[in-house]
Amino acid sequence: MSQSDSVDIFVIGGGINGTSIARDAVGRGFTVALAEMKDLASGTSSAATKLVHGGLRYLEHYEFRLVQEALAEREVLWAEAPHIIWPLRFVLPHHKGLRPAFILRSGLAMYDYMGGRRLLPPTKTLDLKQHETGKPLKPEFKRGFEYSDCWVDDARFVVLNARDAANRGATIHVRTKVTSARRENGGWVLELDGEDGRQTVRAKLLINAAGPWVDDVITGTMGKNGAHNVRLVKGSHIVVRRLYEHDRCYIFQNADGRIIFAIPYEQDYTLIGTTDEDYHGDPRDVAISDKETNYLLSAASEYFAKPVTSEEIAWTYSGVRPLFDDGASAAQEATRDYVLKMDGDKATGAAVHVFGGKLTTSRRLAESVLEKIEEVLGKKGIAWTKGSKLPGGEFEPLNFEAELRRLGMDYSGLPNGMLRRLMRQYGTKARSILGDAKDVSALGQHFGADLYQAEVDYQVNIEWARTAEDVLWRRTKLGLRVGKEDVGRLEDYLGQRVPA
Ligand code: FAD
Repeated sequence: MSQSDSVDIFVIGGGINGTSIARDAVGRGFTVALAEMKDLASGTSSAATKLVHGGLRYLEHYEFRLVQEALAEREVLWAEAPHIIWPLRFVLPHHKGLRPAFILRSGLAMYDYMGGRRLLPPTKTLDLKQHETGKPLKPEFKRGFEYSDCWVDDARFVVLNARDAANRGATIHVRTKVTSARRENGGWVLELDGEDGRQTVRAKLLINAAGPWVDDVITGTMGKNGAHNVRLVKGSHIVVRRLYEHDRCYIFQNADGRIIFAIPYEQDYTLIGTTDEDYHGDPRDVAISDKETNYLLSAASEYFAKPVTSEEIAWTYSGVRPLFDDGASAAQEATRDYVLKMDGDKATGAAVHVFGGKLTTSRRLAESVLEKIEEVLGKKGIAWTKGSKLPGGEFEPLNFEAELRRLGMDYSGLPNGMLRRLMRQYGTKARSILGDAKDVSALGQHFGADLYQAEVDYQVNIEWARTAEDVLWRRTKLGLRVGKEDVGRLEDYLGQRVPA
């Protein structure tokens, strides 16, 4: 059995939680392997609203620990990956039929002061009759509040955590399912089935970060009797043609007590979401329903002067929140905090099951998991991820435009829009894709929009992309821009290509 067939820690699940845990653990000196049964981030971690946020709404549910931890993470994560994470300003229009202004103001004051804000601008009050953010709204919205949170490219956040883990020595298996996990001699014997055929791997400790499948891993893969820890809560988004020109987002309160966001998306679009309803189907089959579409259209149309219609929808996506089942009656009231459960010990074979969590708190969740791991395997390194960089993020958070200008000077023959997109997605690693290209003809085959072979090759070799869907909907969002024929050519190209 080779060294990679026997590791300290084996992680099931290549979402944000699994990859963050793998990264933290390998950086502390543990040997680590991770298996993802489909593509990285193909589960819940590419279906989020994509906010690094405290979660204003969670204050109402008294989730102060979560909100405080999440708020503090905004600037930590922005500094870690300033290409894929950046600040956003949110406009909360006030309406007297909804939450009273003093409640909103005090919530926002808490938001401002709880969370270690250094670079993010504070909350302010807006006169929507005068301010540009009032223009797209119905005239009855006269006053609003503006506050800060951050945006994250969720699928890329996962891939960068996996890449960094691999750079530090972790083994990442994609398209590889863990079909069985059994205890033996105080550790684990795992059966994998995937890209490299069937394999047996031994591990001292198992992490179950299977997101919506966490109970399936407990009952199916590990063969334990009935597990009912996770509450699956579906959330859907619609992407419509851009609804307004400015760069702010909106947070709209609805008459049912819920909130939805409208966020500028991929230059030409507006993202609207999300819904919140219990889900009992297979997480892989999750899709928006007509009821959800109508809910989002009508909730947005309560605020925008021009009603938002189904004809404007360019794309939709849905995901399932794997929340810890705390017995809350309504889906939107179930805790958004994470829960970690230790199963077994050093003598019997230990596993940690991960429930819930958010993109925002994934780094902190990994630190908490490492504390549990160290109870079993002993302490190795120290906590190190705060202040670290993800691949491509090796510049100061406020220097994105300066980095982009430098890229533009070095690649003056390439289109500005393409350079901006590459800088946003790959940061300083955009240069690894472009090499010494003077113009697009040096980048190989063209697959539509501004996608060329050099980028696809990078995604295959460095980022584990295998299919057109991986390239067009997770490593990028160019699926919004390419035609059917382009997709076909990309599929043909990927079909012949073997990862380097
Ligand atoms: P997943 O991403 O689902 O990863 C689990 C992985 O395990 C899957 O990829 C699956 O294929 C794999 N797997 C399962 N079984 C096996 C097996 N046997 N072998 C190998 N692999 C296996 N959070 C925020 O911070 N901000 C937001 O704005 C936000 N918005 C959200 C909006 C919606 C609608 C939803 C649904 C969630 C949102 N979240 C948000 C929460 C966040 O997206 C999730 O908490 C997070 O993505 C969960 O990650 P995970 O790694 O636990 O699960």
